[in-house]
Amino acid sequence: MSDRTVVVVGAGVAGTSAAWAARRNGAKVHLISGGAGASALMSGALDFAGWQVAPRSGHEPALDATACALLDALGIWQVAERPVRVATMTGNLRTARGADRALLDVAALSNVRVAVPRLARPAWDADLVARGCSAEPWAKERGVRFEAVDCSPLFDDADARASDADLAALFDDASRVERIVRALRAACDRHDAVLLGPWLGLRTDGSALLREAIGRPAGETLSMLAGAAGARFETAAERVLRDAEVKRSVARATALRRSDGRFACEHDGDEGPFEADAVVMACGGLIGGGICFTPSEANAAGVMPEASSEPFAMSLKSEACLALDGRFVGRTGSLHGPNLEDYGWPSIAEARSVLERIGVRRDGVRALDREAQAVPGLFVAGSAAADARHTVLDSLAAGIEAGLAAAS
Ligand SMILES: Cc1cc2nc3c(=O)[nH]c(=O)nc-3n(C[C@H](O)[C@H](O)[C@H](O)COP(=O)(O)OP(=O)(O)OC[C@H]3O[C@@H](n4cnc5c(N)ncnc54)[C@H](O)[C@@H]3O)c2cc1C
Repeated sequence: MSDRTVVVVGAGVAGTSAAWAARRNGAKVHLISGGAGASALMSGALDFAGWQVAPRSGHEPALDATACALLDALGIWQVAERPVRVATMTGNLRTARGADRALLDVAALSNVRVAVPRLARPAWDADLVARGCSAEPWAKERGVRFEAVDCSPLFDDADARASDADLAALFDDASRVERIVRALRAACDRHDAVLLGPWLGLRTDGSALLREAIGRPAGETLSMLAGAAGARFETAAERVLRDAEVKRSVARATALRRSDGRFACEHDGDEGPFEADAVVMACGGLIGGGICFTPSEANAAGVMPEASSEPFAMSLKSEACLALDGRFVGRTGSLHGPNLEDYGWPSIAEARSVLERIGVRRDGVRALDREAQAVPGLFVAGSAAADARHTVLDSLAAGIEAGLAAAS
């Protein structure tokens, strides 16, 4: 057991995993986070290798016992041996290593009819979903037909205007799920499975209640940006961190100063700097705000702070440096700065864009400085790390590794 104090910066999948793992190893953990990141935007599909790579049983890294224990503690995700197959709200079917347990996994279905209820909801087009999913080669091969069906309204007028995540929160109330069950029994009695949008509870597993009540597979499509899947993660992470007695502060960390083998984490909150023996940088990439992109045109216009005179910079200053493809990334020599298009859109030769590959230079989860030396006590995980795979399960596994290392 550790008697160390660990500061974790960032409360996405990587930061939550790091804080939970360090705490499990006995460290005192203080998590500081400045808001939401990519984890709040996730769709509910859980990938390990890149998004473009279709998962195949036994061909991807295994999740170890500690990762499985964290999945159990979160209680919202299912990762089985075989890949799942789930539908998007725009009528595509995609495979993934795992998924939010509220989703309808059609992988094991064949020769069935899946009902897609027509409901008055923004961005919900049952006919589009049914047509698109039925047209997928996998669905044709397996004889899985998706059919839009008329259904009495499941939501009252006020609910119908709520965002997907807010509507899902309303369905934590079991009596509302009973209302859905009555309507769906009538509308879908000639179908073998039911596919709804991402609305079935944040804290409770509304899909499980629904499946049990109607006696057939039922569940959600993937979420759109910042929908129910991201809100479910945030709700579950908050509970897990509270149960683990992780101290939390809402503030932006600004700098890590190291002296006599200890860190002082400076931040923009009211308290003084947070002291720690080790720090995990889990502050995300460009979407999470861990990495800032400031093209030199903006600097020339005088609208950006002086500190951001490099095109890419970490929001948290430290001895660690940014890297890309294993090399230190410094200032641009160009008068006009880098062309954003070159960063945002991968060329044919590159599978992933610079925006996804740039991050803290590292050796595994150890953060490296400009001389490629490990900074003692400084670790990095998730999208903040250079050349990391930007996926939920990779962030979870790396977060655990960084948290355990920081507590050791
Ligand atoms: C739209 C979208 C869809 C996705 N879909 C999938 C998918 O289908 N499958 C899949 O596997 N993955 C998907 N991903 C990727 C996955 O969500 C990310 O790889 C993962 O969530 C990254 O987690 P993270 O903890 O590293 O970063 P983040 O979740 O970005 O967390 C970073 C945290 O750090 C905080 N922070 C940043 N800077 C500071 C600072 N200076 N001080 C304090 N706090 C700070 C942020 O506020 C945030 O809380 C998707 C991502 C996006 C954006």
